[in-house]
Amino acid sequence: MTRLITTIAEMRDIRASLTGRVGLVPTMGSLHDGHLTLMRRAREQSDVLIVSDFVNPLQFGPNEDYDRYPRDLDGDLAKVDGLADYLFAPSAEEMYPAEEPFQVDVGRIGTVFEGAIRPGHFNGVATVVLKLFIIIRPDIAVFGQKDAQQLAVIRRLVRDFNVPVDIIPAPISREGSGLARSSRNAYLDEDGRWHALALSGLLKDLSGRRMPAPELLHALEQARATSSTDVQWDYAEAVDPATFEPIDSSFTGDAVVIVAARVQGVRLLDNAEITVGT
Ligand code: AMP
Repeated sequence: MTRLITTIAEMRDIRASLTGRVGLVPTMGSLHDGHLTLMRRAREQSDVLIVSDFVNPLQFGPNEDYDRYPRDLDGDLAKVDGLADYLFAPSAEEMYPAEEPFQVDVGRIGTVFEGAIRPGHFNGVATVVLKLFIIIRPDIAVFGQKDAQQLAVIRRLVRDFNVPVDIIPAPISREGSGLARSSRNAYLDEDGRWHALALSGLLKDLSGRRMPAPELLHALEQARATSSTDVQWDYAEAVDPATFEPIDSSFTGDAVVIVAARVQGVRLLDNAEITVGT
């Protein structure tokens, strides 16, 4: 049975009593199969698994979906049963008792792509993850490659703050159609789910390939030009996976193609790795 923990004090007490390697999978709940993949990956490398389940207000902008973000603690508890030892689900007041809590500033990487569209988002992500690392003191933490910019931010966070946690990436989990799993897919109707395949469809042609930079940049320009009322691209770019700076036409090496679009008003993200070169 997974044990539910809602206070920081209890979480700290339990952590102090644990022996062996402790793994953490941070989530915002409303768990789907993608989250379960992360948990299985964490289990392979840890003796005790803690999953956090917290919709973090700091990473939502004033006009975003914090209030209507799907929440289902009972369903989450049932899903992690047999996989996680503890589900840490504190309230927003428990995590942020101060009216204006201090936050981590992640700098430039937090201002491009997702960070440009969602100002302050990555500062909020880095803040909650650092808090979870301090409260839980995990040996490893697993993050999904689905949120590639978030993964790059977390890697910088542990490097720049000397946090002794191994960050382990987990591959993108997809539905049979190719659609990347996301809690926000629940907002889409059948038509929306069909239009959403534009993201994975674009990436399918590029994923795992080797392509010269000018050819790749041209393909992405073409894709962006197809923006319609059904699929409105926010970006479709190739970037350096560590810095999230866009590649130029002379770039060679490993890159990641990142795409974001709005379908039925829902923001969807996806990405794929590609080798750039002749
Ligand atoms: P979220 O609950 O959306 O904040 O996601 C929690 C963790 O699950 C993050 O590390 C995400 O990158 C990861 N995740 C969400 N969806 C997927 C997916 N389809 N495949 C892999 N990881 C995912």
